[in-house]
Amino acid sequence: MSLAVTRIRITGYANPVIRILTASMSLAVMRIRITGYANPVIQILTASMSLAVTRIRITGYANLVIQILTASMSLAVIRIRITEFPNRLTGCSQQACPGLNMSSPHSSSNIGISIAPKVGLQASDVLGSHFDSVEDAELWYNNYARMLGFGVRKGDMRRGKKSGRITIRRWVCHFEGVRDERQSQNCSRVREPRPITRTGCRASFRVNYDDSVGKYIAKEFRPEHNHNLASTNEVHFIRSHRKVTDAELAQAKALRHVGVKTCQFMDYMVDQVKGPQNLRFTCKDMQNTLDASTHAEVGDSDSDTTIAYFAAKSEHDPGLCFEYTLDDENRLRNLFWADCVARYDYQCFGDVLAFDATYKTNAYHKPLVTLVGTNHHFRTTVFGFALLANETIDSYTWLLQTFLSTMGNQKPVSVITDGDKVQKMYSKRCNWAEAYLRGTFFAGMRSTQRCESMNAYLSRFVQYKLKLYEFVRQIDRALRNICTTETFDEFKTKYSTPVLRTHLQSLEKHAAQLFPLKVFLKVRDEMLREGAVIEVKNVKAVDVALYTVTEFGTPTTCWNVIHNLQENHIQCSCQMMKSVGLSCRHMFHVLKVEQIEKIPDNMVLCRWTKKAKEHNTCRTTKLEVDTDVSEMARFSALSTACNKMCYNAAKNVEAYENALVEINRLTLTYEQQSEQDGLPNKKLRMGTKLRNPAVVKTKGEMCSRKL
Ligand SMILES: [Zn+2]
Ligand SMILES: [Zn+2]
Repeated sequence: MSLAVTRIRITGYANPVIRILTASMSLAVMRIRITGYANPVIQILTASMSLAVTRIRITGYANLVIQILTASMSLAVIRIRITEFPNRLTGCSQQACPGLNMSSPHSSSNIGISIAPKVGLQASDVLGSHFDSVEDAELWYNNYARMLGFGVRKGDMRRGKKSGRITIRRWVCHFEGVRDERQSQNCSRVREPRPITRTGCRASFRVNYDDSVGKYIAKEFRPEHNHNLASTNEVHFIRSHRKVTDAELAQAKALRHVGVKTCQFMDYMVDQVKGPQNLRFTCKDMQNTLDASTHAEVGDSDSDTTIAYFAAKSEHDPGLCFEYTLDDENRLRNLFWADCVARYDYQCFGDVLAFDATYKTNAYHKPLVTLVGTNHHFRTTVFGFALLANETIDSYTWLLQTFLSTMGNQKPVSVITDGDKVQKMYSKRCNWAEAYLRGTFFAGMRSTQRCESMNAYLSRFVQYKLKLYEFVRQIDRALRNICTTETFDEFKTKYSTPVLRTHLQSLEKHAAQLFPLKVFLKVRDEMLREGAVIEVKNVKAVDVALYTVTEFGTPTTCWNVIHNLQENHIQCSCQMMKSVGLSCRHMFHVLKVEQIEKIPDNMVLCRWTKKAKEHNTCRTTKLEVDTDVSEMARFSALSTACNKMCYNAAKNVEAYENALVEINRLTLTYEQQSEQDGLPNKKLRMGTKLRNPAVVKTKGEMCSRKL
């Protein structure tokens, strides 16, 4: 359609639906102006129509539907002007008649056009119309059907023997035909048969190719239906009218890349178009289209693409480790990865390792295992991720062995996971399990709760249907967010000093120098609680002092604190230092009694101090902007620029034509370019071809099970 000027002006409170549906239509000027309170639906549907001027002007309270349905019509001027209160439904069906002029200058009573709801086209209007292609004809018939309220199915088709060109194409109403009786009488059917919708409707449309003109000519048009037609607010449920456009798909994909789920996107779209009835697709349609598009992008090479993604990433991050196993059919079974930040964090905070599995994060139903710990800001820190083929002991054994070798065989002091699993694995005498039993240090972690909250956090980024390559990218996004949090914690620690509040001022001051803010607050809490400690007795030898203390409120519970005077080494029987790594109130009591103003070294565990990550050699501060993010940023910058250009170019015909030529030229250029480039960095292939993972059969449909 070539449209020189379109003006639609609506003022006042208006609820109009204006649809202009065209196929090869040339429209010089169109003006629609609605003022006052208006409720009109104006639909102009045309095929090969040439329209010089259209003016529709409605003022006052109007509640009308104007439909102009045409086929091969040449129209010089259409003017519809309605003033006052024409509370009518106006249907206007026009045949080919050049120079038509409709005008109703004053009141609704003498509108010179036919008034009838949903007046359709007659066969004589359509037969003989020309279409450039089958697609044009289909689009036109589809639009016509949508406007009228019925669905379209493809009917017969014939191709030319020599040319292969479609010579005959027919479309029918979606109620055409009748259900095969045998199908519904089949007793062995497990499912309830679908309700019968066929009514044997005979409405149809057919085009034949005409060699002499090189166009498709409408040869058959049956407008009569033997059933009710859908109303405007029902028509979007009809299957053939449900379609996700390329633009909508592009938008959905862009949002999916930043973790927006399909149902959230649907809410957004419904909001954009003011109600679901204006949307041309359902949530399911969108999901299917997204899946199909992902499949087209990744195809059968999801595993390859994922491994290639890691390979490409490891060029920027030499510390990145990824390991995977394959099954007999060359399918991806287990996958483990940890980037350099994770590996470095493990060096600093790997004394306690917790892991737990979560489900429904990817299209293959592979359980995702997150391996986490606690950093010196008391935040959960990620040591690595794994997607396992299943939850057998063998898979976990592979995971933990791979994990340890990736981490330079530095074993954790303690491992926290679900009890049953650990017992079973210990009975297999896996290499790592002895580490578990040795552990008494838990760094404040007692359960897999940290894993669970990490998994809950990750679930904001991933969704059930994600392919592997999408999945690992989403995980990367989540990691970047976690990293940002840590940077902020570091910043707060670096540039703020807590106000001293305890009675042990010099010790508190020393603690503030040693520990990051969150750890300091825990230490200070112990200092404050020192006030309740009561000394029961003390025994002093030459180089050892033994204190027995109790607390106000619990006089029957006693703790023994041993102070080695020579080494300035303090131990307490409450074991807080051993299990959490922080000094207890009983120890602070001894420091107070002995007038010691600095916290002795043995009361300070390096992993809790500000210096925990000081010998930082591997952390990359380089901000690696995700390619998706930068692509989206470029897209929005270009859109803004285009809007500005279009705004100015639309002001006069010459500029408009000029712009159109340039846009088409550029579009063609970039289309060819992107075809040549294919999908960059997805083209990367690794030696042998990997097959996609088999979908794991999960027991039941539980969302989150423990190990
Ligand atoms: Zn029908
Ligand atoms: Zn203690």
